[in-house]
Amino acid sequence: MQSKDALIAYNVLNKKIVSNGFCTLCGACEAACPTSAISVEGEKNRRLHDCSEDLDLCPICYEVCPHSEALQLRVQKSVSDAPVKNEALGYYRKIVLAQATDPKLRELSHGGGVVTSLLTYGVEKKLFDSAIVSKAEPENPAKPRASVATVQDDILSAVGSKFFPSPVAKAYGRAVYGYGKTRIAFVGVPCHVMALRKIETWGHKIGDSLAITIGLFCFGTFSMAPLLKYIEDNYHVKPSEIKHMRLSSKFIVQTEKDVIRIPVSEVENIIMPSCRTCTDFTSELADISIGGAYPLDDWSTVIIRTKAGEKFFYDAVENGVINTWVIEQEPEVYERVARAAIQKRTAAIKEAKKIEEKIGYLPILMLHESDAFAHVKAADIMTQKVKTVPANLPISELLQLMAQQHHIGYPVVNENGQPIGIVTLEEASLVEKEKRDTTLVSQIIRRKPVSVKPDDTALDIYRKMSEFETGRVLVLDEADSTQILGMVTKSDLMHTLIENSES
Ligand SMILES: Cc1cc2nc3c(=O)[nH]c(=O)nc-3n(C[C@H](O)[C@H](O)[C@H](O)COP(=O)(O)OP(=O)(O)OC[C@H]3O[C@@H](n4cnc5c(N)ncnc54)[C@H](O)[C@@H]3O)c2cc1C
Ligand code: SF4
Ligand code: SF4
Ligand code: SF4
Repeated sequence: MQSKDALIAYNVLNKKIVSNGFCTLCGACEAACPTSAISVEGEKNRRLHDCSEDLDLCPICYEVCPHSEALQLRVQKSVSDAPVKNEALGYYRKIVLAQATDPKLRELSHGGGVVTSLLTYGVEKKLFDSAIVSKAEPENPAKPRASVATVQDDILSAVGSKFFPSPVAKAYGRAVYGYGKTRIAFVGVPCHVMALRKIETWGHKIGDSLAITIGLFCFGTFSMAPLLKYIEDNYHVKPSEIKHMRLSSKFIVQTEKDVIRIPVSEVENIIMPSCRTCTDFTSELADISIGGAYPLDDWSTVIIRTKAGEKFFYDAVENGVINTWVIEQEPEVYERVARAAIQKRTAAIKEAKKIEEKIGYLPILMLHESDAFAHVKAADIMTQKVKTVPANLPISELLQLMAQQHHIGYPVVNENGQPIGIVTLEEASLVEKEKRDTTLVSQIIRRKPVSVKPDDTALDIYRKMSEFETGRVLVLDEADSTQILGMVTKSDLMHTLIENSES
């Protein structure tokens, strides 16, 4: 007989997530726990009492944790009706560049100030009754304090990024239970947004109060004590002297008197363990995702994913609080965002495979062989009217095309229109900037595209992708193998899994 204790999710949460160091301290487990048995405080996740004395069975804390495999496919349905499905950036409706019209806000945020503008606009217009933000701790401004903001001043005091864990899901729970809020705007990094989407998808009653989610791009958060010690030991700056930190091409630490520029490679080994297996750079489940627009200084990249996000964002634009600009005119911004997203996903999957071998547990959503694939044909899921590029196209023009068409890979054709290979953004972005006008696609092409026939199943495609380590296959005409009928990417396979997951 199974012991009563085995039916309590906390044991699994503790064994797989907390003890293995995967907890990023979001506080979703605390917010969702029906017996108040968990406390996320400081850098600790603790059990306050043994909940199995109150309950025979409870799956909640493990299922809502963003790092558990539970609900990972079902949560994707919150965004999967969007018209675009991009392998690097997820589902979306539009991508634009944006900035707060208020220059003071841009200066304070050291970015576009878009998140703060949207939140202050939403509170002023009563589109929501509160916002979950991460303010700076007065005695240690680099440290976030997750807070329930109800007025503009609260929101303004949270401007700027803090690169340490912020228990925003716990603050969300406090907004519902403690303050009785029913229309909450939530701001967080991708794992925070995942936690809130899981709470919603699980059907937990606190999920009903979520009005809008704004997700931030994220390369990782740092373990606080080790990073502050590193900065103190190597740059002689005490934690109390740090005014704020920000990320540009370097990790920048600002004090009252000085600006210290630390190469990201110096500190990247101090990011939290979960961040190494995290595949999401752009908050793929948020209503609106916002991140930097390097090399443009005071602009942000905004990815609008849901109808609710689109309505809210353009309301704010029409009311003059936000300026927008077209990303299609800024190929370098698109290149950097897409490349960062691909690199993060590739590195995370590699790391996750190592971890799976070591501890027999895979903490991320990965494409896997599924029964759903056996009944779906290539012709049903392929993108038709595939855009191709000629082999003699210069790399600078290829990158411009990618930004205009929001693609990250193309089949390459010869002068007779026959497929001769594949070119991707990853390879193109490796070509040095000065050489991009003179280097041609033919010089970086991956020869021999992997192909399937229209009647082949998604399972055949999955196996070919695994065997040839590629993210896309061409669907060729059976009668004339020089004719491209379509293309299937890993995103198309993932979409098939999402569509077939229980609703
Ligand atoms: C840990 C972290 C890593 C990031 N990594 C990248 C990256 O690699 N590339 C990139 O382009 N962008 C990254 N960003 C996003 C970027 O720093 C900006 O937050 C984003 O561009 C929005 O800018 P803004 O000027 O519109 O925001 P602002 O108007 O300044 O508002 C920032 C909002 O972020 C919230 N916030 C601050 N710190 C945290 C935190 N730790 N957890 C949850 N919410 C927080 C605040 O509540 C505030 O509302 C990261 C952000 C964080 C917090
Ligand atoms: S009662 Fe709380 S701690 Fe216990 S399993 Fe449920 S959610 Fe987890
Ligand atoms: S839900 Fe959040 S706080 Fe709880 S274990 Fe998971 S990451 Fe940690
Ligand atoms: S990298 Fe992923 S796990 Fe780490 S803080 Fe960012 S979203 Fe969370």
